[in-house]
Amino acid sequence: MQAFFCPDQLLHQPQQFMRLGRIHQPADVPARAEALRDTLTTLGLPPQLPRDAGRAPLEAVHAPDYLDYLATAFERWQALSVPGVEQGPEVLPNLSPYPHPTGHPNATGPGGVRPTCPSNALVPQTGWYISDLACPIGPHTWRSILRAAHTAFAAAEAVVAGERLAYALCRPSGHHAHRDRAGGFCYVNNTAVAAQHLAQHFGRVAVLDVDAHHGDGTQNIFYERGDVLTVSTHADPAAYYPFFTGHAHERGHGAGEGCNLNLPLAHGSGNAEFAAALAQAEAAITRFAPQALVLAMGFDTFKDDPMSVLRLDHDAYRLVGERVRALNLPVVVVQEGGYMVEALGPGLQALLAGLGQAGAAR
Ligand SMILES: [Zn+2]
Repeated sequence: MQAFFCPDQLLHQPQQFMRLGRIHQPADVPARAEALRDTLTTLGLPPQLPRDAGRAPLEAVHAPDYLDYLATAFERWQALSVPGVEQGPEVLPNLSPYPHPTGHPNATGPGGVRPTCPSNALVPQTGWYISDLACPIGPHTWRSILRAAHTAFAAAEAVVAGERLAYALCRPSGHHAHRDRAGGFCYVNNTAVAAQHLAQHFGRVAVLDVDAHHGDGTQNIFYERGDVLTVSTHADPAAYYPFFTGHAHERGHGAGEGCNLNLPLAHGSGNAEFAAALAQAEAAITRFAPQALVLAMGFDTFKDDPMSVLRLDHDAYRLVGERVRALNLPVVVVQEGGYMVEALGPGLQALLAGLGQAGAAR
C-alpha cells in the first residue's frame, strides 16, 4: 500500500463554525490530519508527498470559475473596503441566493447549461459559491485545498500505475463539494478527483462512501454518469446534514439512471445495521462490475464522535476493510470526516487491518 499526504494541508485553520445559530470552535482542526499521519508512520506506512499536479485534476470535476473564486477569495476579501465596516478574519457568506428554477443553484439549467453567478463582486459570489457557514476561507485555505486534491490524485495515479491499494490522507474533506459549490467543511471533491482519474483509465468505477453524512457533492457530480456508480451509507438525512439529498429514491438520471444508491441509516444505528447496509452496497457494486473502487472513508460514524448520530465502533471499520478487500479491486481510500481526534488513529488502524495491511494488525 502507498499512502499520500502533504503537510500544507495543515495550513487551513478555520476560526469559527456556526451551528444552530451559535459560533462554535471549528471541528475540522489540523490535529485530525496529524493524528492520521502519525498513525501511518507508526504502522510503517509513512505517507509520501504528492506531486504538484496543478489545477487540471480539479478542473476535471469542478467549474473553472469556481476554482478561480476559491484561489482568489481571501486576497479579494482583504482588499474589500466598505466605509464603517471592517471585514472578519476569513471569508464567509452572509447571503444565500434564491434557488434556481431547477431547484438548486448548482443544478444544470435548461438546455444542459450550468447557471453561473450573475455578479463579479466578491460578496455575492461568496453567497453563490459557499453554501453554509462551515466553509470559511482563510489565508492558506486554497493551498490546503489544492494539496488535498493532489493527495487524492496521487493515490489514484499510484493505482493506475499498478498499485492495488492507496490511501489519500485528505484534509479538508471533499465529499460535500459540488461542481461549483462548497459546503460542510468541503471545497474541492477529493473523492471525485480520484474517481474521475480512475474512470479515465479503468472505464467503470464505483465510489463507496461510508462517512456519517451523505456524499451529496459526489452524487451530484456523477449523477448523470453511467460509468461511475456512487453508493453512500449515512445517517438518515431527513434530520441530519446535508438534509436535501441522500434519500433512497435518488437513483441517478439520464445515462446515470440506476447508478446511484443511497442507504440511509436510522439515527442510533450500530454495527449490525451498518453491516446490513454494507452488504447491500457490496451487492450493488458487484452487480455494477467496476474495474476500480474509491472508498470515501469517514470516521464520524463513531459512537463518541461529536458530530455522530450513529453508534459504530472500530469493529465496523475493520469490517469495511474486509468487505472492500473481498471485492478484489484496485482501491483508492480517500479520507473524509471524523472529528474525535483521539479516535481517528485507531479507526484507521482497524480499517487498514481489514484491508489486509499486516502492519496495521499490531
Ligand atoms: Zn461526515
